[in-house]
Amino acid sequence: MASPFLKRVLRAPGYGWSRGEELYVPTQREILSEWAHRLNLLHSRKAWLSVMVWSFTLLLLPFGAVFLLHYFSWKLMLAGFLYSMVWLGTHGTVYLHRYGTHRAFTFTNRYYRFVCQNLAIKIVPEEVYIVSHHVHHAYSDQAGDPYNAKAGWLYCFLAADLHQQISPTLSTKDYARAAALLNHTGVRANRYEQYLRWGSITHPARLLCNYLLNWAFWYGAFYWLGGHALATAIFGWAAVWAFGIRAHNYDLHAGGKDRRRDGLDFDRGSLAINAVWPGLVAGEWHNNHHLFPTSVQAGFLPWQLDSAFAFIRFYRLLGGVSSWRNLRPKFYERHYRPRLQRSAIPEG
Ligand SMILES: [Zn+2]
Ligand SMILES: [Zn+2]
Repeated sequence: MASPFLKRVLRAPGYGWSRGEELYVPTQREILSEWAHRLNLLHSRKAWLSVMVWSFTLLLLPFGAVFLLHYFSWKLMLAGFLYSMVWLGTHGTVYLHRYGTHRAFTFTNRYYRFVCQNLAIKIVPEEVYIVSHHVHHAYSDQAGDPYNAKAGWLYCFLAADLHQQISPTLSTKDYARAAALLNHTGVRANRYEQYLRWGSITHPARLLCNYLLNWAFWYGAFYWLGGHALATAIFGWAAVWAFGIRAHNYDLHAGGKDRRRDGLDFDRGSLAINAVWPGLVAGEWHNNHHLFPTSVQAGFLPWQLDSAFAFIRFYRLLGGVSSWRNLRPKFYERHYRPRLQRSAIPEG
């Protein structure tokens, strides 16, 4: 019997997802040798996507160095910290996560979408995030989960290269289905022959242009606002996010351990937890999110701030969002109130 689409859409690592039904946990050596293989452009041009994403991530570091050596100030440190932790995180939640993957809301038109897409320094391409994130939800904490926290930190940290790219051997039909997952983002998909050549949905020239124009715009904008001092502070701090985001699912799934707390982490279908830091700075209440993945709001309890939802509300006020799906009332109806009622009934 053919495997389900989400089981076969990603390129399996050399060490495989599983042994029998069980998750296979590779050794660090196996992970690093697979990683070297996946980044080897001499071996295959299909390594281009990983090489390009890493190149832009590493390119952020010199900005940080220039900031620290020439322009350091505590005020700019704070600005960079807030931009990196709050804005890059929130933007990722809004655009890549709630819109890109879960289609929790719609933009009024493609101009608003384009503006939102480019409202932060580009770090993670749509293709790398979105396709694999569907697989993550279908197989959370099981074999095949591209960033399975049970397989360790390094397995998650290098997942973008090891486990998140699409399979190079998709049929025409499967490739069309994979490309359709990005349709609403406006990313132009390769034709099937181009996909066979590059192993990706996005064409390298297009992604390169996207990175360069986006970076030039933002460097220019920050330079205009505060000179090289502000621009290098922001770009330098963006590196911290670019590295941090690679392993964030490891923490959101409690390092593969069961850390779910009664009365707080209501979803029992995955190991996801409502970790406080990603929740507060980026609206990433991950246990809530696994409970209702397609909800435009993930901060359900009154103290669970949701900066991503706040931004989407603001963008709707500006006319940029035409519709959304908010499942917060369902959370109260199906999970929160029944629990309150249960705990109000005395035992025995
Ligand atoms: Zn998750
Ligand atoms: Zn999700």
